[in-house]
Amino acid sequence: MHPGHLRTPVALRAPLAATALALTAHIAPAGTWLPGVRRTFLPALAGLGDPDHVALTFDDGPDPRSTPHYLDLLDRLSVRATFFVLGESLRRYPELGHDIVRRGHELAVHGWTHSRPWLPAPGRDLREISRAAEEVRRISGARPQWYRPPYGILTGGRWAGALRCGLRPVLWSAWGRDWAADATPEGVLRTVRRQLHGVGDTILLHDADLSGEDRWRPALGMLPDLVSGLRAEALTVGPLADHGLAPARRPG
Ligand SMILES: [Zn+2]
Repeated sequence: MHPGHLRTPVALRAPLAATALALTAHIAPAGTWLPGVRRTFLPALAGLGDPDHVALTFDDGPDPRSTPHYLDLLDRLSVRATFFVLGESLRRYPELGHDIVRRGHELAVHGWTHSRPWLPAPGRDLREISRAAEEVRRISGARPQWYRPPYGILTGGRWAGALRCGLRPVLWSAWGRDWAADATPEGVLRTVRRQLHGVGDTILLHDADLSGEDRWRPALGMLPDLVSGLRAEALTVGPLADHGLAPARRPG
């Protein structure tokens, strides 16, 4: 065996350890993804607000195939909501973005693309969040307040990027699993209701299906029953702007 074979791993040890540390720091904040952990230890991140209010939020739009159906239904229900949009979709469909705002809803930042953060890239995270926030500001005429990363994976880089852009990260305390292939309106409603604790919950649903299928329909189908059920419990349904959350502090 050439001695070089023995020496190489030793020489690599320090860089590998540094990489492992960087990866740990990158992924560790993503543990906040777990809803139970989040509700208990990070209520602000779970979007827990005014106990008389339930925040209704939609991710992954805007999409001309599905978002207009949500806007029409929300009008009929007299409900306003928060839409966490993708910058690239907003760029592609600015009129739809304007329509969301015209109808009284709130735009928030979901990211530029719907990507998974496999490796730490804080510079890229900041660039993409900043670009998406600027696109939202351009369309809505107001600086966005909230950031929710794709898949709810809030890495250290994304967290820091959001704060640098003056955005407050908000995940959710109840979701509908409305993206599942076997989702039905009744199932999505049951799933959401099971997770509501009357503590100022934030509900996550999707007004678009990025896979190009029609998985946005079950959430649309259950919305009237969800809203009427919550109102029957004297709860107000609305956007994060009315949820009693403190906005992020603006950087310097
Ligand atoms: Zn998403």
